Amino acid sequence: MLDLWEYLRLGRMFFAVLLLGVAGMLAFCTTPKPDHDLFHELRIQMVERDLVTRDITDVPTLRAMAVVPRHRFVPQQYWDAAYSDQPLPIGYGQTISQPYVVALMMQHLGVEHGEKVLEVGTGSGYQAAVLAELTDQVYSIEIIEELANLSRSSLASLGHTTVLVKYGDGYKGWDEFAPFDKIIVTAAADHIPVPLIEQLKEGGRLIMPVGDTNRSQNLTLGEKIRGEFRISQISSVRFVPLTGEAEGQVK
Ligand code: SAM
Repeated sequence: MLDLWEYLRLGRMFFAVLLLGVAGMLAFCTTPKPDHDLFHELRIQMVERDLVTRDITDVPTLRAMAVVPRHRFVPQQYWDAAYSDQPLPIGYGQTISQPYVVALMMQHLGVEHGEKVLEVGTGSGYQAAVLAELTDQVYSIEIIEELANLSRSSLASLGHTTVLVKYGDGYKGWDEFAPFDKIIVTAAADHIPVPLIEQLKEGGRLIMPVGDTNRSQNLTLGEKIRGEFRISQISSVRFVPLTGEAEGQVK
C-alpha cells in the first residue's frame, strides 16, 4: 500500500515529466527551420521564376535543378545570392554559370538515363551535379587544379560519387572513356575542338559557346548525324574563355 507521501512524490514526478515533454515540444516547434529547408524554398522559387516562366520546359532538367543545392557550390559569402539568376565568383577568376544558361544547355543536350556525358570546365562542380541527376556516367575535366580538387570534394560531400573529375586540359577530351553520347563545354572558344567532335558518338550532341572570347558568343549545338557534324545556333551568351590548347598554349 502507498501512503499519502508516496502518492505526492509520484504525482510530482509525473508533473515534472509532463512539463519536460511540453517544453521539448515547444522548443521543437519554435526552433528556426534548418538552412536546407530555406534553401529548398529559394531553389523552387528560382525554378519557377527564372526557368519555367521562360522557355525551359524539359521536365528532367527542371527536376534536376530543383534538387541540386547550388549554394553548396559557391563560397559561403555568396550563399544569399545562390538562387538568383546570375553567375557568381568561385575563385581563381572563374564563375559558376547563371542557372538559366545551365538549364538551357541541359535542355538542348537532352541527357538520358545511362548516357555517357563529358563536361569540359568543371568549375564549381554544379553543372556536373545537375548532369549526375540525369545519368550515372558523368566525366568532367577542369584545367585549374584547385578547382578540380574543390569540385571533387563538393560533389563527394553531396553523395555524387559517380562523377569522375580530372585535372587537365579538356581540349583533347578524355580518350580513355570516349566515345560520349553528349559533350558539354562550359567555357568559350573561337572554334569547336576537333578531338571533342571525334569523341562524340554517332547520333550524339555537343553544346558549347563559340565566338569572340572577349565579347559574347553563340551558344552552339552540334549533332553527329550519319558521320556528319551539323551545327545550329541557339542564343547569344557570355562565358569565360577555354584556356590551354584552345588559346594556342600546348604543354
Ligand atoms: N560548369 C561550371 C560550374 O558548374 O561551375 C562553370 C564553368 S566556368 C564558367 C568555366 C570553367 O572552365 C572554369 O572553371 C575554367 O577553369 C574551366 N576551363 C577553362 N579552360 C579549360 C580547359 N581547356 N579544360 C578544362 N577546363 C577549362
